[in-house]
Amino acid sequence: MKRFEYLEARTVRQAISMLQRHGENACIVAGSTDFLVRWRAGVWNPDHVINIQRVAGLSRITYSGRNGLRIGALATIRAIEQHAAVRRYYPALAVAAASFAGVQVRNLATVGGNICNASPSGDMIPALLVFGSECKIVGADGERAVALDKFFTGPGQTVLQHGELLTEVRVPVPARNTGSHYIKHSPRGAMDIATVGVASLVSLDGRNGPCAEACIALGAVAPTPIRAYSAEDSLRGQALTQDLLIAAANLARDGVRPIDDIRGSAEHRKEIVGVLTRRTLEQAFNAATSGPLTFNEQRRLTVQAAF
Ligand SMILES: Cc1cc2nc3c(=O)[nH]c(=O)nc-3n(C[C@H](O)[C@H](O)[C@H](O)COP(=O)(O)OP(=O)(O)OC[C@H]3O[C@@H](n4cnc5c(N)ncnc54)[C@H](O)[C@@H]3O)c2cc1C
Repeated sequence: MKRFEYLEARTVRQAISMLQRHGENACIVAGSTDFLVRWRAGVWNPDHVINIQRVAGLSRITYSGRNGLRIGALATIRAIEQHAAVRRYYPALAVAAASFAGVQVRNLATVGGNICNASPSGDMIPALLVFGSECKIVGADGERAVALDKFFTGPGQTVLQHGELLTEVRVPVPARNTGSHYIKHSPRGAMDIATVGVASLVSLDGRNGPCAEACIALGAVAPTPIRAYSAEDSLRGQALTQDLLIAAANLARDGVRPIDDIRGSAEHRKEIVGVLTRRTLEQAFNAATSGPLTFNEQRRLTVQAAF
């Protein structure tokens, strides 16, 4: 393990100037749950490590009916899981957080770290994608906003330039009559990363009306988390039936080209995409027609569905 200089930033501006001063061999850490594993394995070898955990204001989570959900980059996965507005208006996000590792890791791991680590299997990403989330990025030249579905450029790769920080994730207010759900499939349960993760969102035009919006996001089946666009298109404007949901799930399954790896073969992953897309769509549709389940009911469904 290579030694490094440890630095702490107290403001966003300080973190940015430290990054600029120390150049490409400096890196940011937040909860350090990804960093420590990679550093110990000798994969990441920075000369300077800048801890941003004490930067004030970045762990806040706020919700308003006008601006939606604002999640500071340093908000922990546990804080997201337990936030009342997240559970009420963004169930897929609350369930994704609850399916993430064990409580000890959830208490440290941040949403910003999960996004910036850019793992194809990052649990928070599919759930954030279906709500149309946007990233606020701050650098020396000011700030910019990037839609989350434009943020990832490859495994571990993002649009962030050296010297830039992700400071906030903005999640719009869901339309009325919206349901959402997330299921992670992982043979070892939450303590392992997802073999496949699927989030779905369905909005209806009136409680029993046709589908106004459908969004499906898939994790761990491509170099980055992806949307299942043709499956989504097959649902918009339609009066949803069980047959349509199954057909959409089959489209999602047929549209992915996953890889074989230690966690599952490509063929297995494809099948799981079909099953989990159907189950998350059914759950989202039921919630859109009859109102959301409580968090514990959702969580129970996720656990049953994953095994
Ligand atoms: C035992 C264990 C279990 C795990 N289980 C899961 C799981 O179930 N699901 C899952 O998705 N992940 C899991 N992980 C991976 C990890 O916990 C998550 O990716 C976590 O969200 C990373 O957040 P962090 O704050 O710890 O990131 P860090 O390790 O601090 O940083 C990760 C990367 O993001 C960059 N970064 C962090 N914050 C910012 C920022 N604000 N702006 C710019 N760059 C930033 C860092 O430079 C680094 O490259 C697990 C890890 C461990 C060790």
